Amino acid sequence: DDTMRLSYRLIPYFDDQWLLVVRDVTKLMHLEQVRRDFVANVSHELRTPLTVVHGYLDLLEPEEKPDWAPMLTEMRHQSQRMTQIVEDLLTLSRLEAQERLPEESVSMASMLATLRREADALSQGRHTVSISDETSLDLCGSTKELHSAFSNLVTNAVRYTPNGGRIGISLRDTPDGGLSLEVSDTGNGIPPQHLGRITERFYRVSTSRSRDSGGTGLGLSIVKHVLALHQARLEIESEVGFGSTFRVVFGPERALERSEHDDALA
Ligand code: ADP
Repeated sequence: DDTMRLSYRLIPYFDDQWLLVVRDVTKLMHLEQVRRDFVANVSHELRTPLTVVHGYLDLLEPEEKPDWAPMLTEMRHQSQRMTQIVEDLLTLSRLEAQERLPEESVSMASMLATLRREADALSQGRHTVSISDETSLDLCGSTKELHSAFSNLVTNAVRYTPNGGRIGISLRDTPDGGLSLEVSDTGNGIPPQHLGRITERFYRVSTSRSRDSGGTGLGLSIVKHVLALHQARLEIESEVGFGSTFRVVFGPERALERSEHDDALA
């Protein structure tokens, strides 16, 4: 459309005077929309060819050429990675296009149980996983998107923690009546100079190590978008060599008393 978009800023001037700065951001917002559409279209178009490549790769059995086996394994691995990147980009596009999400009552008891299963499956007994549920509150928001955000944090905790480490997931009340979900690990940690940037798309602390870990570099961007849609904030504490804590804090407007039904399920 050709609506004009303006941005306003009020800046203190002298004494009791104020300066109103009005900027025409029509073009900027249009370019942003073009970028979003482009990423969404490219990702969507890549889906089908990738499915085909992936499907045929799975059918190949190098019986007559045994030395092809490692190459096939690598090709399968890389096409899997590409598929994951495309899926994550589509998730990001979907989140960016949304102004609000469904407001369901999200059962945190079943959320924690799901996260525990996922952590166990990924860790395969290489880490100690502990869960603590210290609140009687549930969340109000989108179960699907919140699960994808929390799941990304748990996956990272397992991914960046050497064998024998500990992963903790805890849910707590906050003093203002909200709640927080904390995912902590005793892993590699993140050097402080990277902390401000790790939620950017494709940003990684150590490119080669992270790439080997199987991630896409998009996980924390997804987390950031989902949290913004829930007016929640992300706090990160990390010490190199000791581990990291990712804490998601929800305000009281996102908190719901758990129903009897949920307690019975838990
Ligand atoms: P990736 O798919 O690479 O894990 P993310 O967006 O999820 O992408 O994370 C961005 C980067 O932040 C990772 O590549 C990693 O370097 C760092 N990181 C994220 N979580 C942790 C963690 N729990 N411990 C150490 N480093 C982490």
